Amino acid sequence: MTHALLAHYGLLQNMHVVKPVPARDKDLCRFHADDYVSFLRGITPETQQDQLRQLKRFNVGEDCPVFDGLYSFCQTYAGGSVGGAVKLNHEYCDIAINWAGGLHHAKKCEASGFCYVNDIVLSILELLKVHQRVLYVDIDIHHGDGVEEAFYTTDRVMTVSFHKFGDYFPGTGDIRDIGYSKGKYYSLNVPLDDGIDDESYQSLFKPIMGKVMEVFRPGAVVLQCGADSLSGDRLGCFNLSIKGHAECVKYMRSFNVPLLLLGGGGYTIRNVARCWCYETGVALGVELEDKMPQHEYYEYFGPDYTLHVAPSNMENKNSRQLLDEIRSKLLDNLSKLQHAPSVQFQERPPDTEFPEADEDQEDDDRRSDDSDDENEGKPFGRVKTELLDTESKDMDDKKGERASATEMNASFADISIKASNSGSAAAPPPTATDVKLEQGNSNKPDQSAPASATDMNL
Ligand SMILES: [Zn+2]
Repeated sequence: MTHALLAHYGLLQNMHVVKPVPARDKDLCRFHADDYVSFLRGITPETQQDQLRQLKRFNVGEDCPVFDGLYSFCQTYAGGSVGGAVKLNHEYCDIAINWAGGLHHAKKCEASGFCYVNDIVLSILELLKVHQRVLYVDIDIHHGDGVEEAFYTTDRVMTVSFHKFGDYFPGTGDIRDIGYSKGKYYSLNVPLDDGIDDESYQSLFKPIMGKVMEVFRPGAVVLQCGADSLSGDRLGCFNLSIKGHAECVKYMRSFNVPLLLLGGGGYTIRNVARCWCYETGVALGVELEDKMPQHEYYEYFGPDYTLHVAPSNMENKNSRQLLDEIRSKLLDNLSKLQHAPSVQFQERPPDTEFPEADEDQEDDDRRSDDSDDENEGKPFGRVKTELLDTESKDMDDKKGERASATEMNASFADISIKASNSGSAAAPPPTATDVKLEQGNSNKPDQSAPASATDMNL
């Protein structure tokens, strides 16, 4: 529905549309456990009765049901997000979009909240190949727990989640959860209550994100644009207008830092499509007409057939005083980050050349573009937006394949990042996922890796 709206609003011609190359087993295993990925690959609606123990172990079956094409679905949306990160890393575009991505609840070895693999964590790992610091911002109504957990102990990724808190899925995201060890003060949680409106939301979003940008200075930003925070969502309980929601996109875009826009939740689908269409316009710097063009899903948008819908008159349970307290508490946490002794704001090393030829041979077609007119007729200034289509073709993955350190060398930075499969024995918080940054076995000049770090924990 989103794609149809983009097409009929004439937005597709102003951007570069790319079909995602499905993520392979080894791509997914950079964060997820091997046995979990094998399970996702193998499970079918017909065989699930024989694997009850595994279903329970990986939390698949209830909120996260098995369906035909499940694994291919995971490969597609993850491939879209990682592909977007690759484009940004290569400075192929300033903004990359994958509305099919943003599945923020998935854990290293567990599905959760309609999410099976965590495309966000995977795309952040990709961005970390080039950027010393990556910022993750989450405006879905639910806490971005899977992403926070993955990066809870590192100072290279800051996660900021704005969400409904208090007797609400997934239950995490307390304002007092701020990160751990090196990651202390690098997780930010903004707990909100029912009925929050545009003005209240922005009274937190802008000062907090402005301060985050100032003190954290990320090389790239990933913004999860879950649309269940909109007014009238079937599962949500906020009261944001589409413009209020999109103001977050506009604001993050204004910093001119490479930006990956992802989807997420959203359960009143006509409004999800409206929102992501409008936000694509924001990314392109185009204001769209409210009157909707005719298209194949037109009937869903009656009786008004407009892009925007008025928020409701529901009560805003977020008092001014509560909002002020939340803002000062978080700004206070951010000021501690400024003075934290372990923090070093070093400039990132220069990017490695764009040696596509250095990609693994089998990767030659991956994430390549099917168009060569990228710079023609750019009516929207410097912004070139990638829209990652959701179609995919099945792909034969090699069974049980796990990338070796050498295979995982980044093509454009001489480091590789992988999720260790060794469990979290040394990490005190049970939530910490042990993602390690390792120096690759590359024989290229080692420009990007930190001078002495051969096994730097993220
Ligand atoms: Zn959600």
